[in-house]
Amino acid sequence: MRIILLGPPGAGKGTQSKRLVERHGVVQLSTGDMLRAAVAAGTPIGLEAKDIMARGQLVPDAIVVAIVADRIEEADCARGFILDGFPRTVAQAEALDAMLREKKLALDVVIELKVDEAALLARVEKRIAESGGEARADDNAEALAKRLEVYRSQTAPLVEYYARTGQLVSIDGMQPIEAVAAEIDKVIKASAEA
Ligand code: ADP
Repeated sequence: MRIILLGPPGAGKGTQSKRLVERHGVVQLSTGDMLRAAVAAGTPIGLEAKDIMARGQLVPDAIVVAIVADRIEEADCARGFILDGFPRTVAQAEALDAMLREKKLALDVVIELKVDEAALLARVEKRIAESGGEARADDNAEALAKRLEVYRSQTAPLVEYYARTGQLVSIDGMQPIEAVAAEIDKVIKASAEA
């Protein structure tokens, strides 16, 4: 099972990915988590990414593409993976296509979580409030506004990209977590039978 979860910040990609990991035994590949780990460890990539991420901008395509290319070579990805937060630009999507083609692998489905912007702000504010002062460097009003703008301009075009390839399914991400999860399971089942 190879899936992309697509959606703006706060759409629920991380929550749904973690559930899929538990239920289906696949790995979650979150470029956000990987980059945060690099920042925390102070690696060269982390040093380059730190300020870019805190501002809510995108880390250069070449960096994230290289990270993902390395990661999907690892043994635990053989059973499948959920891409959460990657691809985020058309160039990244093209790089992913090339990577998969080379490995003779295909994506099963691209699932878009659709959420309205007012709800996203409320969700991220809640995440900040619950963080007990340990909020992510980019969970603040200014960086969030930037992340939403970047989503609209750089990532939203991927909806069209995957609609053209016939791999896109859109789900209403405004529903309760369990209802979204049930729809995702249905989509995965249907794509497995296709
Ligand atoms: P969000 O909750 O906003 O979806 P993520 O945890 O996925 O956030 O990512 C946080 C930050 O990490 C992004 O704002 C960006 O700076 C960087 N990042 C994560 N994935 C990518 C990617 N695929 N391409 C470029 N930058 C990325």
